[in-house]
Amino acid sequence: MTGYDKCIRCRKQPSIKNSHVIPRFVFKWMIETGGTKYLRNGTAPNKRIQDGFKLPLLCLECERETSVVENRFSQQVFIPSVTDQSLPKKLGLNEYKFVASVHHRVQAYFWRNTHTPSKYSNQERKDLQKSISLLRLFLVGKRHSVMPMQLFLLPFGLGEFSNVRNMPANWHRYIRRHMEMDIIISERGKLFGSYFKIGPWVSFCLIKNSAQPWVGAELGLRSTKIGSTRVILPPSVQNFLRDRAQNAKKIVDSISQNQQEKIGLALMEADFLVAGRPMFEAIEADVHTFGAAALRD
Ligand SMILES: [Zn+2]
Repeated sequence: MTGYDKCIRCRKQPSIKNSHVIPRFVFKWMIETGGTKYLRNGTAPNKRIQDGFKLPLLCLECERETSVVENRFSQQVFIPSVTDQSLPKKLGLNEYKFVASVHHRVQAYFWRNTHTPSKYSNQERKDLQKSISLLRLFLVGKRHSVMPMQLFLLPFGLGEFSNVRNMPANWHRYIRRHMEMDIIISERGKLFGSYFKIGPWVSFCLIKNSAQPWVGAELGLRSTKIGSTRVILPPSVQNFLRDRAQNAKKIVDSISQNQQEKIGLALMEADFLVAGRPMFEAIEADVHTFGAAALRD
């Protein structure tokens, strides 16, 4: 993984070696509740990862400032949502800052670590560069917002949001538990942005959207009550998540027999029902909805 010598946020100090792209609290939660001590790397599932994706991104001071926003999000939004499925009453400035800061790192990561550079058109490269700089200016207080870009944060893996039809058999496990990030590009070039998923929360930063507008669920600088506006997202969003879930299943299927046996043993040795309760509930929900097909992987 290629990082940055100079901090991507203040652009003054040298960056430390081990900045997280996805916040550390997400990995901590996955390990604590997964029933096993190790996580699997999505691109190389036989490889164990213990602490997430790290590379040189931020300086010490910017790490410290970022962790203030992250801790608040973790305590007020994330932990309650994964512990007892409770949603915060409102989302506002802190969530906006948190989401902007993660997208900033996700985009900076892909800017240097996209293995097929032809994935982007020239215009998209320019737009991505502009977006990274816009997010940075907002994060250091030089801009009031990230407009004209839009930030979204959706609790897709919680309550009624997670009950959608025609989904693969691992859907609940995927939508509640998986962590991932990517740059999204629609086929006809109408949509461009970044995406990350941390447990039940899915977030998008739309750099460009000339397709259907996304109604509701946009984060604003002022607090808005969750559920106060109707959320209407184009069907492509649901299809996107379904494809990601299918892909996650393929990755699990590709784990070697030998490794599968070891994972199975680790699960049996762990205090699965207590430590891994959320995982157990997600599997249960999959079995309930999809029957035995859910356990085939
Ligand atoms: Zn810095």
